[in-house]
Amino acid sequence: MAKQKNNWYIGIDVGGTKIQASLCKECGVVVASAREATPRNGTADDTIKAIVSAIAKALEEENKSIKDIAAVGIAVPGVVDPMGAVVGTPNMNLGGVKLKSILEKKLGVPVSIGNDGNLGALGESWVGSGHGSKSIISICVGTGIGSGIVIDGHLLPGACDAAGEIGHMHVLDDGPVCGCGNHGCFEAIAGRLAIERDIRAALDNGETSVISDLMAQKDGLIKSGMLNTALKSKDALVTRIVTKAAVVIGRVCRSVRHLIDPETIILGGGLMEACGWFLMPIIQKEIEDDHLIASKRKREVVYSSLGDDAVVFGALALARTDIGRSPFDAAFNILPEYPELILKSDGSIEGKKKTWKESFYIRPDGKEKSWKSSASPEPDDIASVISGGVECLYVGSKSGSVLSDECKEFLQQRNIQWKEDSVAKTIQSYNKSTARRATIFI
Ligand SMILES: [Zn+2]
Repeated sequence: MAKQKNNWYIGIDVGGTKIQASLCKECGVVVASAREATPRNGTADDTIKAIVSAIAKALEEENKSIKDIAAVGIAVPGVVDPMGAVVGTPNMNLGGVKLKSILEKKLGVPVSIGNDGNLGALGESWVGSGHGSKSIISICVGTGIGSGIVIDGHLLPGACDAAGEIGHMHVLDDGPVCGCGNHGCFEAIAGRLAIERDIRAALDNGETSVISDLMAQKDGLIKSGMLNTALKSKDALVTRIVTKAAVVIGRVCRSVRHLIDPETIILGGGLMEACGWFLMPIIQKEIEDDHLIASKRKREVVYSSLGDDAVVFGALALARTDIGRSPFDAAFNILPEYPELILKSDGSIEGKKKTWKESFYIRPDGKEKSWKSSASPEPDDIASVISGGVECLYVGSKSGSVLSDECKEFLQQRNIQWKEDSVAKTIQSYNKSTARRATIFI
């Protein structure tokens, strides 16, 4: 494999409120990130300046220059044509802007541009919950609803590069108007803004809900976290409206299965992250309540394991693909550098950083960290260990199994394999593994 001199990359997520630039290694390890606010009422020039500034800040954090960069990948919330021009972005002045050529001129390196929903799917397919699946759809349920379809490591672009706009699939005749101008779109029924609209209408109608008090504390805003609080307190109004949205999400997933029969359906986004415990069982039931397919596969629907990072990983994967170094090509399947662990006679473990006498873990980027959590990990502890994308988690313990049923469920719901064993056997498995991996020794 040819080693590149300039083997660093920049992945950028241009969002409605912030622009995040991440300095990445080719293997998909993020070493520095910087943000700029998205110029809300600014011109296209203002947005381009903010992108360039976020890149400069990310480079500066690691004392790198643009000369160290092999390519830049950018995700934008809109439709992008094959030449890298933005066809349209809601709430942003990038429509008609030839972003690729403008930035290539300014930066002097190859730049690739893609739709954020599509790139999120590409990221999940590479190192997230879609890893190992031949076909996936990733659906991001947030303010709106975006998605992307990846088959054998290739995004399905569509004839006009507009495939994957699942949020604008028609689901209800005479339904509410959508941000796109059509009526009855999926996101106008089940996105967070749609849920918010329905809650406000019910409150205006005289219904009562704990959400009124929660809103008063947040200047009248309704956030996903507040919906979660209301659901946990079994608030009747919020439960009714979110249930209605979950049923529609489930039915759309069922339709998607009929249309493309993907190996894995990945659900992510702010609403899923905050309220997944409530939404997922309803969504699963709607999918399984299917008269067409007799044999139902288990674990077809999973959570996103990358969360917000999926988009940056996807931008990096696209940038690599466009310069001929696709991470889906076996020749360029580069793993992070993992330490070779050695078990000492006194039971301590020699890693790269030090010899560990106490409990520790190794993240997917190969960094060793002291284990501060309890000897019986919670799903939240596991979430921080796997952050950055893993295929397999190795857990070594002196005292038998430490993973609770909740932790196993958490891993299963994200398509992550795990192996629990003695310390000695776990060291062997970790050293021998060719997977993107993490490990905990408790
Ligand atoms: Zn629409």
